[in-house]
Amino acid sequence: TSLRQGFLADESATLQLGATLAAVLHGGIQLQLHGDLGAGKTTFTRGLLQALGHPGRVKSPTYTLVESYSLPPLTVHHFDLYRFADPDEWHDAGFGDYFATDTLCIVEWPDKAGSCLPPPDLALELSVCDAGRNYRLQAFSETGHQCLSRLAT
Ligand code: ADP
Ligand code: MG
Repeated sequence: TSLRQGFLADESATLQLGATLAAVLHGGIQLQLHGDLGAGKTTFTRGLLQALGHPGRVKSPTYTLVESYSLPPLTVHHFDLYRFADPDEWHDAGFGDYFATDTLCIVEWPDKAGSCLPPPDLALELSVCDAGRNYRLQAFSETGHQCLSRLAT
């Protein structure tokens, strides 16, 4: 299994996709989120975080660059690199240190960090289609493939 795709008819379907992914993701994984402004990347992340037990708001890290959520045994780091002017900001900010065996890293606008960002385990691409969204979820590592195969069952 290396690819899953489908249509998300409304916001609740995007939240549900996040919740579905939450059930198979674990520490040490990097999930990259691709798609234009308003495609649903933060909405998806909100569904994922709430399914992992985060009770409060999920604010877009557009200005803070990263929001971290302690959800034992996992810590989720939600990055939004939209405002990066240069990929080297990834190193300047010390973001490499956020990757660990007990952290799940979710990255909006990963291309802004260029090759400073390690390759992802999984990438989700969201695009506007009529009143809803299309999604493509792709695995890029053995770990990512394992997650997708657990989704399929
Ligand atoms: P991004 O983080 O990609 O910029 P957001 O998640 O902040 O996007 O905003 C997406 C907007 O689109 C929100 O207003 C949300 O309610 C809406 N939305 C999310 N998923 C869907 C969907 N499947 N169909 C229609 N609207 C959606
Ligand atoms: Mg966003």
